[in-house]
Amino acid sequence: MAVPIQPPSPPASGTTSPKEQHAQPWITTPLKESAALSKAAGCRIFLKLENLQPSGSFKSRGIGHYILRALSTLPPGTRPHIFSSSGGNAGLAAVHASTALGLPATVCVPLSTKPLMIAKLHAAGAHAVVSHGAAWAEADAHLRDTIIAAHEAKGGVAIYTPPFDHPDIWAGNSTVVREIAAQMAAAGEGAPDVVMCSVGGGGLLNGVVEGLDALGLSGSVDVLALETAGAESLAASMAAGSLVSLDKITSQATSLGAVRVARKAFEYAMREGSRVRSVVLPDAEAAMGCWRLADDERLMVELACGVNVALCYDGRLEKALRRKVRPDEKVVVVLCGGSNVTAEMLHGWREEYGWVEKGMPKTEAPSEVVKPVV
Ligand SMILES: *Cc1c(COP(=O)(O)O)cnc(C)c1O
Repeated sequence: MAVPIQPPSPPASGTTSPKEQHAQPWITTPLKESAALSKAAGCRIFLKLENLQPSGSFKSRGIGHYILRALSTLPPGTRPHIFSSSGGNAGLAAVHASTALGLPATVCVPLSTKPLMIAKLHAAGAHAVVSHGAAWAEADAHLRDTIIAAHEAKGGVAIYTPPFDHPDIWAGNSTVVREIAAQMAAAGEGAPDVVMCSVGGGGLLNGVVEGLDALGLSGSVDVLALETAGAESLAASMAAGSLVSLDKITSQATSLGAVRVARKAFEYAMREGSRVRSVVLPDAEAAMGCWRLADDERLMVELACGVNVALCYDGRLEKALRRKVRPDEKVVVVLCGGSNVTAEMLHGWREEYGWVEKGMPKTEAPSEVVKPVV
């Protein structure tokens, strides 16, 4: 059953100008119950199709709202230039939001950024894409200290957009929960039992938690916070009991590659009565989530998103929840999306990790006697 699409909800409080409301740079996405994933998981799986956002990911919400808020603080008629240092989905969201608002956007990306993403930034209408530095920190410093400084020296107004660590970004991301609740209510379904989302710097998780808080649901809804091994910055901090940084990112799910989560994400996960549970899966399983989603639902998402889907297959959900799931239980996957995927990449992942579906590591021949795991 498909849940009917609701009319667009207004932006979260604080965006006052009617013109800016009109130009809201994200859309209300469908919530779709997936028969194939429900069958695999043994409960009802609903996909919140954030892959359909203008920028290809949920980041249109957070970054779109951040830019609207920043605009609302400027004198009417100001025409700022938008700046981002992300070669990933945050940069794409900044460019898509800017073009929707009729504003120029410049993105400074590290030299490691894939040509695929640079092409997508240009296609989205970026004013300029500058490649600088080996890693994000260098690109970000160059953007702030050189590019933005030069723009302001000429009398220009700049809006710098961070990727995840800002309350206005979380407020924008929280609109996804309000939509889910409204769509489920309209279909006579009541609230979800579980919400699943992935965690890079924690901007999406913060939005989910704040959205559930606002609806009084955080005491009754389980939140599964997914990361890939090698990008498990939330899991590491939760295990340490304090906010810690990973030495390096070794996961291929680069959109989850924040060495440290926002302090607020750690605090939400650890607070009294928190129902946030951290789940870490290897890249191979995230890849499997991507190709099975393509086969089962004809949707293409990147590894950062596929990790959620993987949890719906082969008993992983019950393991993560540490309990049986009921057939009538409602699990919402925030299908965060992402542009770092092509048909060729999906094919390559299946070539490399196809063994995951058969449930055995590549190194073990089928005839080998494997000690049973109790
Ligand atoms: C950015 C991103 C994430 C992680 O979001 P955070 O707010 O950094 O935690 C997950 N999936 C996709 C597709 C993303 O673009």
